[in-house]
Amino acid sequence: QLKEAVYLDKLAVAGQMAAAIAHEVRNPMTTIRGMIQFLGSTTTDMKLKEYSPLLIEELDRTNKIITDYLSMVKPEEPKLESIKLEKVLSDVVSLTAPYGHIYNVDVEGSRIGPYVVNVDEQKLKQGLINIIKNGIEAIDESGNIHLYTYKATKKSITIAIEDNGAGMTKEQLEQIGLPFYTTKAKGTGLGMMVTYKLIQDMGGKIRYESEVNIGTRVLLTLPLCSKTLQPE
Ligand code: ADP
Ligand code: MG
Repeated sequence: QLKEAVYLDKLAVAGQMAAAIAHEVRNPMTTIRGMIQFLGSTTTDMKLKEYSPLLIEELDRTNKIITDYLSMVKPEEPKLESIKLEKVLSDVVSLTAPYGHIYNVDVEGSRIGPYVVNVDEQKLKQGLINIIKNGIEAIDESGNIHLYTYKATKKSITIAIEDNGAGMTKEQLEQIGLPFYTTKAKGTGLGMMVTYKLIQDMGGKIRYESEVNIGTRVLLTLPLCSKTLQPE
């Protein structure tokens, strides 16, 4: 018992240290980003003009890795609230549509009933964005991501996120969500690990169905708000 307490203490210290380091590293990164942006837009040097967006992109990637890592070692308590699911999904579609556009992928939602869920809105959005981005990145030439909902049980609602991308083998499916598991050249393999944690912390569940060369369906089940009358 004593051993366990010491272990938890150490874990908490590790989390605080990671947070402190992340903070210290982020400040100068923000300065560097600003300077590159300034130099890139004012310079007459063509090389600098060409490379500055790439430098910024890499800095943003670094920042994202720090954020993802941090949300694992120093998770914040979810703030559960009664949230309209329709609004969350339409926000998430608007946020990811421009990214889809780059890959020739349409992101659209349909059959979203007027359900009220008991979730942490920001964390749910973050999780959905991670899932949708993966769908977009799994599509080779062009395709679409389709979101819809259905009532799973009396107390829960399922959001389906379908893509017609590359799909996954059984072996790949088993590894999804493991730290650093990625098949992408520029992947971090942290996205789904973080997403599983975020959704679990608000009492939700994630399931995958996938077929190689056909596509993938992610089923995200969330608790419905018990204080609101829900549609059938
Ligand atoms: P990353 O996106 O950085 O690779 P993730 O944790 O988000 O990390 O995803 C891990 C891996 O799971 C991806 O590299 C990919 O191989 C696989 N994957 C996730 N979602 C899908 C999907 N919708 N279609 C096909 N493969 C997927
Ligand atoms: Mg990802």
